[in-house]
Amino acid sequence: MTDHRSEAERAAAEAEELERHARAGRVRPVVFKAPAAPAPPTHWADLKPAERVAAVLAAGLPKFRAAQIDRHYFRSNSDDPTRWTDLPTAVRTDIARDFFPRLLTPIRVQTADAGTTVKTLWRLHDGQMIESVLMRYGVPGVPASGSGRQRATLCFSSQAGCGMACPFCATGQGGLRRNLSTGEIVAQVKEAQKVARLTNVVLMGMGEPLANYKRVVRALRLMTGEMGLSARGITVSTVGLVPRMRELAAEGLPVTLAVSLHAPDDELRDTLVPVNQRFGVREVVGAAHEYFQATGRRVSIEYALIRDVNDQAARADALADLLAGGGRGTGWVHVNLIPLNPTPGSRWTASRPRDADEFVRRLERRRIAVTIRDTRGREIDGACGQLAAAERSGAASR
Ligand code: SAH
Repeated sequence: MTDHRSEAERAAAEAEELERHARAGRVRPVVFKAPAAPAPPTHWADLKPAERVAAVLAAGLPKFRAAQIDRHYFRSNSDDPTRWTDLPTAVRTDIARDFFPRLLTPIRVQTADAGTTVKTLWRLHDGQMIESVLMRYGVPGVPASGSGRQRATLCFSSQAGCGMACPFCATGQGGLRRNLSTGEIVAQVKEAQKVARLTNVVLMGMGEPLANYKRVVRALRLMTGEMGLSARGITVSTVGLVPRMRELAAEGLPVTLAVSLHAPDDELRDTLVPVNQRFGVREVVGAAHEYFQATGRRVSIEYALIRDVNDQAARADALADLLAGGGRGTGWVHVNLIPLNPTPGSRWTASRPRDADEFVRRLERRRIAVTIRDTRGREIDGACGQLAAAERSGAASR
């Protein structure tokens, strides 16, 4: 987009934005662009299909090896080329060295729910840290994993840190360290596949996926293509970066979109999700509805219930009005309420159960599909960024 404003107008707008930030009591500015950082070593998964073939040829190998390596890395549970025994030994060591650098090193693992919830803190090549959480459900003989069909969901990260500065989120308070490479995003999925058959993968770990758009979309293409995961089982969660939501709708990737709304009115959302000052609730909900129209995928609205902040009955009504307004109706959307997981030092806490129940009732009365998300892994700081934050501050040795 070209900016037709004069330098002075731009400066004035920036000053005004800063002032709004200050009024909102925010400590951190919103950051879209990651600070410059040395790129992680190039991994097979970072290469486009044609580049993989070219790389194999450049290494003096016949072209068919590319497809063979694809099959091993993207379709098997092994990410260790030295064990791909249908490749000649010399080839194995060469490709391990050239294309399969170790991207993730586990530095801390926490479990809950009788071992069926596992949260891993990973160190990246440059010392940055990210986390992913694997949740297995309906595991035979393990009542703590819940009943019903056997499923496994991986919650994984798209950035080290996050620039969106949401004040209730541990990751948001830590700021943006850097974007993850496609290889680093995919590697989290590969690691989980070593332990479970994944039915769902959700980009709800650290980071704002749509602020690392190119690498995230490439990872999504690998997941739905080479790796054979169903797009229906993939969810991308965003604070509501409207232009990127529109772009994603046009990618032909029918993944589920989740939008972290957390408030139905601009005044409150400006403080809870600061990027709202750029893309307001009407615009965000409009783009979410367009996403539904383009993909046929029902959109998920994430709403963290924060005691006496955003959980009033009047806000439930306002949320219903907002979602169903503009002739949109209710069939396109599903509201996912998440009791706030308080972060260390935060002045906010989860809603009282009776307020949460009333919030649900009000939405249901308006025929809006709504669920309260289970809080699995709460005792291991399952929500967003808390483990990495604790590790950085040295508190994780408790
Ligand atoms: N940046 C993306 C994805 C990562 S966060 C986004 O904001 O959607 C995944 C979800 O966890 C978001 O809905 C986020 O608002 C929510 N979240 C973050 N911190 C939380 C907390 N302390 N308690 C409850 N939900 C939280």
